[in-house]
Amino acid sequence: MSKKLFIKTWGCQMNVYDSARMADVLAPLGYRPVEEPDGADMVILNTCHIREKASEKVFSELGRLRTLKDRKGSSGDRMILAVAGCVAQAEGEEIVARAPYVDLVFGPQSYHTLPEMVARAARAAGSLLNTDFPVESKFDHLPDDTGAQQGISAFLAVQEGCDKFCTFCVVPYTRGAEFSRPVAQVVAEAERLVAGGALEITLLGQNVNAFHGEGPDGRSWGLGRLIRRLAEIDGLARIRYTTSHPRDMEDELIRAHAEVPQLMPYLHLPVQAGSDRVLAAMNRKHTADDYRRIIDRLRDICPDLALSGDFIVGFPGETDTDFAETLRLVNDVRYAQAYSFKYSPRPGTPAATEARPVPEEVKTQRLTALQQLLDAHQFAFNQGFIGRTVPVLFDRKGRRDGQLMGRSPWMQSVFAEAPERLLGRIVPVRIAAAYGNSLSGSVETGEFVLSPPRGAAAGEPVEALA
Ligand code: SAM
Ligand code: SF4
Repeated sequence: MSKKLFIKTWGCQMNVYDSARMADVLAPLGYRPVEEPDGADMVILNTCHIREKASEKVFSELGRLRTLKDRKGSSGDRMILAVAGCVAQAEGEEIVARAPYVDLVFGPQSYHTLPEMVARAARAAGSLLNTDFPVESKFDHLPDDTGAQQGISAFLAVQEGCDKFCTFCVVPYTRGAEFSRPVAQVVAEAERLVAGGALEITLLGQNVNAFHGEGPDGRSWGLGRLIRRLAEIDGLARIRYTTSHPRDMEDELIRAHAEVPQLMPYLHLPVQAGSDRVLAAMNRKHTADDYRRIIDRLRDICPDLALSGDFIVGFPGETDTDFAETLRLVNDVRYAQAYSFKYSPRPGTPAATEARPVPEEVKTQRLTALQQLLDAHQFAFNQGFIGRTVPVLFDRKGRRDGQLMGRSPWMQSVFAEAPERLLGRIVPVRIAAAYGNSLSGSVETGEFVLSPPRGAAAGEPVEALA
């Protein structure tokens, strides 16, 4: 009998990927995803611990879910309530103590054992806590024949964990040591995704460019080599990867940006700060000029590369002069898009014990100033596309009737009036207007469809695709 599974996901793309794989693992037990928790047989909260308030959000969500669980219980049924992800890993014991009605608490490395955990939870009363880092890789135990239904644009985890220990970051503690999947396993999963309809695959890892998976030749392959291999898959039109660390931007990967047409001209390369003093205190192990040199090399080889980054303002001890260095770096690089955050002390990380916190109001002022600059650059970048025709992979319906939405190669969201039959195609769109976060334009009919639907001839005009 079919059972209802509701998963709520917070945080990064890796969590989105993990949630999809949890659904895969539970599918053979009869669980089918539903859109609402009310009436579900199992609810999983897949959590993120990267910034503060994460656990409060989880506890308030659990409070609401408890009512639904009680209601289901009073009608003689059971809702299995689970907390997964990085909050579960970091604060599992507290969850069990504060919310004993939670049935399962498990970290990011053990969800391949969900069938076993569910069976144990069904037999036992009380919470089951599973936050060990198992010796076996979960990837060796995930089902092969699923995970293929992600749609037009899919995620594929190739690397997990981190050994870099930036002093502000919880990832090395919640996700564990760095681990790369073998190349053959990644290629097989990519082939399944493409067979299931994916035209675009984003390779995921907390430090994805540290990838060093075992190749079929028994040697360690870097991310650049892996991308070249994936580009050989027939039907895979676009490859992306995220998130990268400047220290792992190796030559082969940089060259791939010039030589592999499927690799999109977009790179998310967080720098966090522009002051060498702050970078050293963060344990980033690179300077601002090291970062500038990497950007120069990338732009030499791939002049239209769009850059994205992450920034933290108000790291302990950050002075006005340090912050001015961040603004200078931003002005030098001119990001197409970026994420910026106030520093948030994370329990258990070295920076959390730092004695020189930056006052909250100063953090707020700095964040506002930084975001104004980043927004201005993003807007200018988008404005530069007006009048250009760009290939857009339409992967969803737009907000308005008759509108489709997709991504340009540079990750911009692009809206256009377009018939639904163009969903899942890469179509030339002439850009008429640019906004802070998106572009809009019209489909160039009579031009060539850049990726024909399966079975259609390449180069078939858009109008012929009725
Ligand atoms: N591995 C990536 C790197 O090395 O840049 C970052 C991964 S982290 C999951 C995503 C982003 O969250 C970071 O780039 C950082 O900007 C932000 N972040 C992490 N810890 C933070 C903290 N304690 N306070 C504020 N922002 C934080
Ligand atoms: Fe966190 Fe990224 Fe630093 Fe690793 S490299 S500790 S994931 S910020």
